[in-house]
Amino acid sequence: MNSASHYDVAIIGAGMSGLAAGIRLAHFGKRVCIFERHNAPGGLNSFYSLAGRRYDVGLHAMTNFVRPGVKGTPLGKLLRQLRIDRDEFALCEQKQSRIAFGPHGEAALRFTNDFAVLESEVAHKFPAQIDGFRRLVATVRTYDDVSLDAPAASARAVVRQHVTDPLLEDMIFCPVMYYGSATEHDMEFGQFVIMFKALYLEGFARPFDGVRVIIRVLLEKFRAAGGERRMKCGVRSIRARDDRATALSLDDGSEITAEHVISSIGAPETDRLMEPNVQQPTSHAQLSEQNSALRTPHAAIPIGALTFVETITVLDCQPAALGWGSDTIIFFNDSPRFHYTRSEDQVDLRSGVICIPNNFNYGPGRVLPEGIFRCTCLASYGRWAHLPADTYRTDKQRWYAAIQRSAQRFLPLPSAPDAFARATLTTDMFTPRTIAKFTGHLGGAIYGSPVKNRQGRTTLANVYLCGTDQGFLGIVGAMLSGISMANYHILQKG
Ligand SMILES: Cc1cc2nc3c(=O)[nH]c(=O)nc-3n(C[C@H](O)[C@H](O)[C@H](O)COP(=O)(O)OP(=O)(O)OC[C@H]3O[C@@H](n4cnc5c(N)ncnc54)[C@H](O)[C@@H]3O)c2cc1C
Repeated sequence: MNSASHYDVAIIGAGMSGLAAGIRLAHFGKRVCIFERHNAPGGLNSFYSLAGRRYDVGLHAMTNFVRPGVKGTPLGKLLRQLRIDRDEFALCEQKQSRIAFGPHGEAALRFTNDFAVLESEVAHKFPAQIDGFRRLVATVRTYDDVSLDAPAASARAVVRQHVTDPLLEDMIFCPVMYYGSATEHDMEFGQFVIMFKALYLEGFARPFDGVRVIIRVLLEKFRAAGGERRMKCGVRSIRARDDRATALSLDDGSEITAEHVISSIGAPETDRLMEPNVQQPTSHAQLSEQNSALRTPHAAIPIGALTFVETITVLDCQPAALGWGSDTIIFFNDSPRFHYTRSEDQVDLRSGVICIPNNFNYGPGRVLPEGIFRCTCLASYGRWAHLPADTYRTDKQRWYAAIQRSAQRFLPLPSAPDAFARATLTTDMFTPRTIAKFTGHLGGAIYGSPVKNRQGRTTLANVYLCGTDQGFLGIVGAMLSGISMANYHILQKG
């Protein structure tokens, strides 16, 4: 065995969970290397530059925000375990967010990082439901959501024991599902609790310079602790003997060995690497091509159906100048019921999420240099995956326009009908195809497989999952997943 290419732990993927696992292990003296296929770290929460502008991928807001001094929270745990001073993330709080239902958002609930605001909105708009809502909140607060072996229960069923108005039920579920459900219609109650706390009982924040601040801090911690990282160097296959991984074959044709492997790329995606007979892909593009029809022989681990499109519009003014200065995030739905399902069409315009990054409290006189307006809607991977380049481009343009029209129904009318178009400097849009291409997630499934694996075990005794398919979602959830899998499988076992 060549000691230069032997590690205590090899981590697949430099997303939030892989980086967090790496820091934790490196702090405890493990020789650890992260292998990442893409040229940039961050995974689903990364950044890119286009025509001289820097864009965030993903980040609307970091969930789970609590103010300094609040004990026993996910944010506090992750800062402590990764030895990060909370000032390093320099988080700025949201102004307020809104759940807007009805053709033009006639039924609305506001919420902020102060839970009392949501509670009083429910009391005011749904007076007959407030006692039930309070009982639901009490149930959520006392539920042990970090248990690795809690029995599964339907979140809809539990919520209906307390909340009997379907409108309020759907309004509660809309943000929770958009920000973290890998299952259609309903979700597992433990997952619901995690997201309810993350969004409503805790809250939203963001660094002024966006996700790159968080990534930079993680990379610095990892490097300072002695961790190694190989970018543009994906793992092509995991070779196994008996029930253990014996070596990892890399995209560049070389091979490394490790006592333990932590994979952050998803459960079905990891499963595929363990198949020595299959011709393994060497790029995310090839992987998505292979799996475009989602005909997987690995039927035991289902591939997620939920994926999204996101549009980004850069404005020459602050959104406040269009009358959109109050809301940070708006979760909207125009239909009698909220349908969280795989889209039949390329995009489902009935619901979505608007994020206006300018509307965080950055401090006096501190404003983002340009206006940013982002909209996310449910989409269909299959309807985007195989379009010829020309059709793909024109379909993106068509849907970009339709998404703006749909989303702006839930915002105050600007002073002039063409004010938004006149203020637009440039636009960008990503589709499920983009997600699959850049992150390798089969079917562009942002929240991974509908079946979560809390213990993070795989068919190989020394290969573990972390991140999305271990069941903790979002930026904070992903980091906690990396930490807890490193602790549970490696550090606690010596
Ligand atoms: C549009 C969008 C909006 C979002 N908004 C928010 C938000 O506002 N707030 C929030 O908290 N969360 C948000 N999320 C969710 C959040 O980004 C994810 O839950 C989290 O980043 C997942 O991290 P991860 O480490 O589990 O996985 P990933 O980020 O998917 O990391 C996996 C990494 O593995 C790499 N990889 C894959 N295959 C291989 C291979 N074979 N070899 C080597 N490397 C490989 C990938 O390139 C990737 O870098 C959003 C996501 C998206 C896409």
